[in-house]
Amino acid sequence: MDYQAFLIKYAEIGIKGKNRYIFEDKLVSRINAALKRIPGDFAISKNSGRIYAVASEPFDRAEAEAELQTVFGISAICPVVRKDLMPPEELLAAAVDYFGKAHPGFAGSFKVVATRADKSYPWDSQTINYKVGEAVLAAYPDVHVDVHTPDIVFRIEIREKVNFYSETVPGPGGMPVGSSGKAMLLLSGGIDSPVAGWMLAKRGVTLEAVYFHAPPYTSERAKQKVVELAELVSRYAGPIRLHVVNFTDVQLYIYENAPHDELTIIMRRYMMRIAEMLAAENGASALITGESLGQVASQTLQSLVCTNEVCKMPVFRPLIAFDKQDIINIAEKIGTFETSILPYEDCCTIFVAKHPVTKPNAGIIRRSESNLVPAIDELVKKAVETEECIVCVR
Ligand code: ATP
Ligand code: MG
Repeated sequence: MDYQAFLIKYAEIGIKGKNRYIFEDKLVSRINAALKRIPGDFAISKNSGRIYAVASEPFDRAEAEAELQTVFGISAICPVVRKDLMPPEELLAAAVDYFGKAHPGFAGSFKVVATRADKSYPWDSQTINYKVGEAVLAAYPDVHVDVHTPDIVFRIEIREKVNFYSETVPGPGGMPVGSSGKAMLLLSGGIDSPVAGWMLAKRGVTLEAVYFHAPPYTSERAKQKVVELAELVSRYAGPIRLHVVNFTDVQLYIYENAPHDELTIIMRRYMMRIAEMLAAENGASALITGESLGQVASQTLQSLVCTNEVCKMPVFRPLIAFDKQDIINIAEKIGTFETSILPYEDCCTIFVAKHPVTKPNAGIIRRSESNLVPAIDELVKKAVETEECIVCVR
């Protein structure tokens, strides 16, 4: 079947009044960005609760659907054939022609569901249902009508054009990116944090990201890997501004001046503090991490509590209750896994103690940190001031 367009549906729950326009406009702009990545020269338009993407050049249907799968907020994707408005007799022939091409050799049940936006059309919806049903039955002997549980729902919408569609591909769900504020993702080169970012983007959150780089202990290739991950996530989340922070001096200072079994937790507290400063500077109102309860020493409940206390902003940890395999499954689905497992060093693994505390006492940690100030404050300030911002987009 030679489809020229898609009818794109979204779930309307909870988006009334002014929010509806914000939601729809963000959705249209994300659809535009996604379909720009492939041939087809699609024009996106919205029309009374409907979004159409109409191609003016040939395109590959599977490729277009794959791109639309990256647009959060879409609940269903329906390839559609659009015709100029036509009188009822011609409508019958066009409907029969559509059905045969869309479902060649089909043997099974169907029903016709017609709607008219333009009530002046000579036939009402019931008449269209009945007459088209009859014409399809006459043309294709192996089909029958089942109005309760049909295999195929053949929809005919009479609007500014006649729309025929009968196939529906589920969309990714979620909310359009840009409809739920902005948050700062702590993005490492690992498996978890790209998935955590993707999950919040799915709820409509615009992402900024921060990566703590420790040259020369971590390489340029390790940084490039994080850029690549941000680009992969940007397919779903839109352009991501990645702040690369040179963390070496802060880390070395902690290494030289704090008890070694507390290194990881103190280092993580400084990461959170810096991430929060960058979030505030860049209009983000929450932080996101890839932490998952119990996964490593720094992710015991006590460690998370101790890390958390340095932040005023909410910290979203969407993977908190996920098993590693569940996270890997998502990473594979969204296409970040292969990049995440490239074996480059991570700043957290370079300065670790053999036996890190797993049940840090916040009081003791605070005391250890009090020995680091004021010198460390200067190093933090410098790290924030010298950050490099890279716009990652795919
Ligand atoms: P990931 O797979 O996301 O790296 P992980 O299982 O390796 O996570 P940790 O290394 O303990 O776990 O990191 C926990 C979280 O802290 C990460 O998910 C990420 O959000 C953040 N994080 C860790 N290292 C960095 C880094 N170098 N830059 C930015 N954020 C980081
Ligand atoms: Mg990691």
